[in-house]
Amino acid sequence: MYCPFCSATDTKVIDSRLVSDGHQVRRRRECLVCHERYTTFESAELVMPRIIKRDGSREPFNEDKMRNGLVRALEKRPVSTEEMELSINKLKSKLRATGEREVSSEMLGTIIMEQLKSLDKVAYIRFASVYRSFEDIKEFGEEIARLGDSE
Ligand SMILES: [Zn+2]
Repeated sequence: MYCPFCSATDTKVIDSRLVSDGHQVRRRRECLVCHERYTTFESAELVMPRIIKRDGSREPFNEDKMRNGLVRALEKRPVSTEEMELSINKLKSKLRATGEREVSSEMLGTIIMEQLKSLDKVAYIRFASVYRSFEDIKEFGEEIARLGDSE
């Protein structure tokens, strides 16, 4: 890229390091002409599938929306922000790994629930009860019983 100060084309990288848990590269650059320094961030451009909502309409995948759902489910639970961010990265990888250009909101919900199940069981139940809106209290009880069995 051109130097943002003088538009010269020659810059050199003076420092390069991984940030955001290795998902970004931060580079300090110096312009060879005006010697100003600036920082660039580089990350892979990842194409996320679009989400097909229950009513058939499509919307772009919304990472903030997913994060908000997780934050709500994990409220007051012993799970660190870092663990949560790692889970979000795993969820995004799983979504991309489907290789689909569009996935249903049900499938997205299932992927999130599977991830939460391994992260925190209470958060899983909270999320599932909102997302899947259990048909009745019996079904909810069965789900909790199944969790007990797997331990
Ligand atoms: Zn310059």
